[in-house]
This record gives sequence, C-alpha cells and structure tokens, in this order.
Amino acid sequence: MTTTISPLIAGNWKMNGTRSSLDELAALASLLTTGEAPRAIVVVCPPATMLAAVARHGATAGIQAGGQDCHAESHGAHTGDISAGMLADAGAQYVIVGHSERRADHGETDELVRAKAEAAIGAGLKPIICVGETESQRDSGAAETVVSAQLAASIPDAAEQHEVIVAYEPIWAIGTGRTPTVQEITAMHASIRAQLVARFADRGPSIRILYGGSLKPQNAREILEVENVNGGLVGGASLLARDFYTIISAV
Ligand code: PEP
Repeated sequence: MTTTISPLIAGNWKMNGTRSSLDELAALASLLTTGEAPRAIVVVCPPATMLAAVARHGATAGIQAGGQDCHAESHGAHTGDISAGMLADAGAQYVIVGHSERRADHGETDELVRAKAEAAIGAGLKPIICVGETESQRDSGAAETVVSAQLAASIPDAAEQHEVIVAYEPIWAIGTGRTPTVQEITAMHASIRAQLVARFADRGPSIRILYGGSLKPQNAREILEVENVNGGLVGGASLLARDFYTIISAV
C-alpha cells in the first residue's frame, strides 16, 4: 500500500438491509471503538432508505456514510431517482458511481458515470468511481486497455480540484469468491496510477485507488499490501460486522 495516502475501506451493502441491519452497524461501531483504532477511513454505503440512519448511528464510531448511486441532475421529473444533493442532505459524504451492476442493469455509460461524478462533486460528495473488465476482456489480454478507456471517460476534469476515488473492480471477481493474482492487481493498479498521474499533475499521485471484488477476511491482508492499493470496496463481506472489521483491521 502507498503509505502517503490514508487508506479507505468502503462497504457496499447493495440491495441488502432493513432497519434490523442497524444491529450489525452497532456491532461494527462497537468493534471499531473498543479495539485498536482503525488505520483506515471507514465508509458504509447502505440502501438509500437507510442512509440517514447509518449516518446518524455510525458517526460516533467514525463510520461515514455513502450512497450507492445518484442521478446526474440535481432535481426534477425523475421518478424513483435520488440526487447527489439529497444524499448529502441525508448525511452522505461519499457516493459510488458506475458500479458494474449499475452499468449492466441500467445501461450506464462512461459519459453518464462522469456526469454523476460531476453531480456528486457539485453536491460536496466524494464520488467513488468504479471501473473494471469482464472475464473475457481479461482473457483476451485487454483488461488494461478497457479500464484505461473507462477511466479516461468516467473521471471528470474536476478531479484536478476535488477529491475523487477510483475503485478497480474486475467484474468477474465481484461476488464470485475469485480474485486476480497479486501480480495482476499490482499491474492494474500501477497502470491506473500512471494514468492518473499523467492526467492530473497535482492530484494524480494522491487519488485513492481501491480494490474491489471478493475482498474477504482471508485475502484482505495480502491484497491491501499491494502497492497503489489504497483500500478496498467490499460487497458481501461488509454485511457482517465481524468480517468487515477484520478487513478494516488488515490495513
Ligand atoms: C462490490 O459489489 O462492489 C463488491 C466488491 O462485491 P463483493 O465484495 O461481494 O465481491
């Protein structure tokens, strides 16, 4: 891990969680406040229905809240959508944009992801911008080219002045229990860093690059140690306080 960048571990609850999940949040808060102080910034991204509660209950333990998506517009006739300003109003400080599940389920393009990231910045949120290749793209040797194109089109120019976070999530690793090798993660994160440095002279060296995709208590230490891995985006393993805490403690 690059030592000059403070690491961040974000939990993506996806479409999981009702009010009873606040017990798990309370368990996480208790682990974080009774054990050794975490070396990572801890973020939980629950479903929007729970955002205000997570922001409120997590605050005392230093847990920050994030949304899982936002609309590119600030308001208007978009039934069922939520704007970045609404997430901020509910207590969010971060928002995931361009998760591969949204790219696949909702046809989100890089251009739309960039617009959402811009909206997030405009509302004072830090966007966590997701990129990642499919299995066939990796097998054909195109992983770095694909991710590079996604990065170029998804990250707004405003990243030169505002904090953004990149999450590299190989699609074939999400929810599958499979992960790239340490060598593959090292190569991809180095390639992302090089691109960020080339595009954003001042901020490029310090933009966090998270790894996501079947990050578990068993593999967290090995992956989080990799150069240019500045934390993780955790799906399934963030739903159980003990597992998520073990990953946070691996930093
Ligand atoms: C994710 O969906 O962002 C993710 C990383 O999921 P999982 O950890 O379950 O693979």
